[in-house]
Order: sequence, then structure tokens, then C-alpha cells
Amino acid sequence: MKHLYHPTALDPATPVPSWWRDTRTDAPDYPALDGDVESEVAIIGGGYTGLSAAYHLARDHGIEAVVLERAYPGWGGSGRNGGFCCMGSSKMPWHRMVGKFGLAETQRFWRSQKDSVELVAEIATREELDIDRTGTGEISLAHKPSLVDGLKEEAAYMARTFGARETFVPKEELVAQGLNSPGLHAGVANPVGFGLNPWKYVTGLAAATAKAGARIFGNTEVIHWSRERAKHVLTTPRGRVRAAKVLIATAGYTGEDLHPDYAGRILPALSSIVVTRPMSQAELDAQGWTSTTPVYDIRYLLHYFRLLPDGRMMFGGRGGLSAEPALLRRQQDNIEAAFRAYYPAWREVEITYRWSGLLCLAQDLVPHVGAWDDQPGIYFAMCYHGNGVAMGTWSGRAAARAMTGGIDERPDFIRRPPPKFPLPFLRPLYLRGAYIGYGLRDSLS
Ligand SMILES: Cc1cc2nc3c(=O)[nH]c(=O)nc-3n(C[C@H](O)[C@H](O)[C@H](O)COP(=O)(O)OP(=O)(O)OC[C@H]3O[C@@H](n4cnc5c(N)ncnc54)[C@H](O)[C@@H]3O)c2cc1C
Repeated sequence: MKHLYHPTALDPATPVPSWWRDTRTDAPDYPALDGDVESEVAIIGGGYTGLSAAYHLARDHGIEAVVLERAYPGWGGSGRNGGFCCMGSSKMPWHRMVGKFGLAETQRFWRSQKDSVELVAEIATREELDIDRTGTGEISLAHKPSLVDGLKEEAAYMARTFGARETFVPKEELVAQGLNSPGLHAGVANPVGFGLNPWKYVTGLAAATAKAGARIFGNTEVIHWSRERAKHVLTTPRGRVRAAKVLIATAGYTGEDLHPDYAGRILPALSSIVVTRPMSQAELDAQGWTSTTPVYDIRYLLHYFRLLPDGRMMFGGRGGLSAEPALLRRQQDNIEAAFRAYYPAWREVEITYRWSGLLCLAQDLVPHVGAWDDQPGIYFAMCYHGNGVAMGTWSGRAAARAMTGGIDERPDFIRRPPPKFPLPFLRPLYLRGAYIGYGLRDSLS
């Protein structure tokens, strides 16, 4: 597999030492494809996007798709993220989106974000998935007093423009709600969203998808893609799939050599997480942090954090520029330092888990879900900009609907394939430049 990052980050044999994995150790195995199969739809990638597409194709449209996953369902971002089931998924500020795409299309996008959170909750209820849901909504936090007024104005803008019910939360109320840190000065609460256990959600979704009739194959990497008249032929190490339609649902793990025309269209980026040992009620009280609502600070290079159900604190942020193990480790140390700075009472609390993974960015900073006009039968769904728990689930359903002519709620601007980066081999430099620029803006704001 050709990819921008160090091979250890892409090797399914590399352990993913996440806390989530230890909370469910009985996930079923999905055997490798052995032999040749025909299917109306083949899906490459077994994360939320691919599984949700297969689930909805089977459940709502009677199409039993084949899911091909090079490791096992949830091995990518879906089994190792922060579990924020929240709105997000674009890196373009809302007011810029309104200017670029118009108010009606941006409102449509905002609604899709809200619907995506409800969709996850609906699936979890319908399929009786045990996902360890925590908290109500999501809170964005000002990490400098100078940012508080801007946060207040943003909440007013969201209410005016989208009818969002976001509310300003002054410092004393944050403290009263159990969100006390000397480094956090006020917040805006969005009532939409919750925390979940991403590994339990993705393994539950895989089981529900298989139960609905889809065929899921683990250890099955698509290593070659060709065409035989109207059919696509996906070659894997021990078998081939012939399908009229193919969905690319490989996100930050997309190989540059998966399809020649798809190369250079996405920018994978690393994110890292550290998790503490479980803390006692007295330790939580000592810091004044007892709320399980998912929160993030409003840095350009933001940190996202939440108290987990068993009293552990999870803290995540940018994963650096290299997946080379020693450099990843150094970046995880930086994340740990940021955690300690926010929580003086927990300076000595041990970190017991640390891991990293790849998410997926687009050159135009918005998600992409649709059919590829130039390549009949090829569909894509990716680029959630680090916010794919809800949006990946929604986009999988949107891709299933696009394949079958079902209800279409996608704003126009997410329907085209991710645009190619100019001089794609420079992507690592673009990312470095963005990090330097964002870092500067963070220190100056
Ligand atoms: C550390 C971290 C924290 C994050 N935190 C959050 C969060 O709190 N909330 C949130 O909403 N989002 C978060 N994200 C982003 C979120 O995890 C992703 O947006 C989401 O998982 C994308 O799902 P997906 O199904 O599109 O892709 P993935 O889950 O990444 O799955 C892609 C799959 O494709 C497979 N694949 C690739 N190539 C091939 C091939 N050739 N053949 C077969 N299979 C292939 C891979 O093995 C992989 O399993 C985070 C991401 C990371 C890395």
C-alpha cells in the first residue's frame, strides 16, 4: 500500500493500544475472502462509513453488499477515536461557508450534522447496541480570557443563522457544572451530541450489518482494481469481487495506489490520545472536574477531552507530522503535557494508555459523499476532518441512498469527489505549513 505515512501506522499487525479495545475483547472475527464472488455493491473499508452504507443498503434497499476490510472492522479511525458523537466534520468556518456556498446550502449542511448525531442514537437504540453513552451535548471552551467575547458572538451567530440552541456558559457556571480548570475561561454548550465508546459502537454496527445481510470480510485488502465492461473487479490476496458499484470508504487509510484517479485527493493527518488510570471521586472533586460531557478548546490546533464512565480522563489532540514510532511518542508526550497544564490536581496521575490514528482532510475543507461522474459506478464518502463518528454514519447512509436513488439530503457542495491537491507530493509540506500557521495564530490570539 502506498501512503504518505510511516508503514507502522498502516500495518494491521501493529497493535492499537487503546483503552477502548480493552473494554470489549469478544468482538467476532470476520474471515478473509477466499474465492471469487459477485455482488451488486462492493465497499472498500470497514469503518463507520463502509459499515453504515452496507447496513442501510441491506436494511432499507434489500441489497446485500460485500464489505472488504484489510484488517478488521474498526481497525482504522472508527475503533480508536475520541468517541465524540457530535456536530462538526468541516474545517471551514460557518460564516465562510455561507459566503461561499450560500445560506440555504449551508443550513442544509448544518441540518445534516444535527441529523447525523440523531442517526447514531437511532441505530444504537434499534439494534440495542451497548455503546456506553455519556454526557449531553458538547461544550467548546475558551482557553484564554481574550477569546470569551468571540465565543459569545459565535453562539449568537449560530442562533441567528441556523436556529442553533447553543448557549454561552460563563466561567462560574462551568465550575458549577463540574468543568473546572484554571486554563478554561468560559464555554458554549451545544445541546446536540454525546460521548460514546467508539470500539463498542463500530463492533456493534458491524454485527448489526452482518445480521442485516451484508457480507463482511476481514484481512481482505483490495490490492488491485480493474474493469471488465460494466463491472468493477477488486482483487484481494485470496479472491476477487465483481460488482457494478464500488464505494470507497477508506478515509485516512486510503492507499495512494487504490485507484489511479483517486490519488492525491485527500490529506491524512494524525491525531493522538492519552488516557489516565481510573480516578476516585475524591480525586475528581479535588480538580472539580466531574462532568462527562465531551468538551474541546477552541485552539486552531484544538484539544478534545472527556471524563470516561469509569473515572478515567481521556485527552486528545494533534498527532504530529510523522508516524515514525519515536516521533509519535514525542507528540503523545506533548499531548500529556497539555493535559497536565489544564489539570494541576492531576499532575501525578498516571497515564495508562496512549495511541494515535489517521483522520482525513480535504483540500477544500468539507466532506465529500457522492458518485463519481467521470467513473461510472464509483462512489466515495470521506473527509470528515476528525469528526466522523456521526458524519461517517450519516455519509454511509447517504452513499447507500445515492446508489439506489433514495432520499437525498446532501448539500450540493459535498457531492463532488474531493478535489485533487495541487502538486499532491507536497501535501506533507502543506500540512507542516498549516500547523505552523495555526500554531502562530493560537499563540497570537
Ligand atoms: C485519534 C483519533 C481521534 C478521533 N476522534 C474523533 C472523535 O472524537 N469524534 C469523531 O467524530 N471523529 C473522531 N475522529 C475521526 C473518526 O475516527 C473518523 O472520521 C472516522 O472513524 C472515519 O470512519 P471511516 O469509516 O470513514 O474510516 P476508518 O474508520 O478510518 O476506516 C477506513 C478503513 O479502510 C480500510 N482500508 C484502507 N484501505 C483498504 C484497502 N485497500 N482494502 C480494504 N480495506 C482498506 C482500513 O483498514 C480502515 O479500517 C478521530 C480520529 C482519530 C484518528
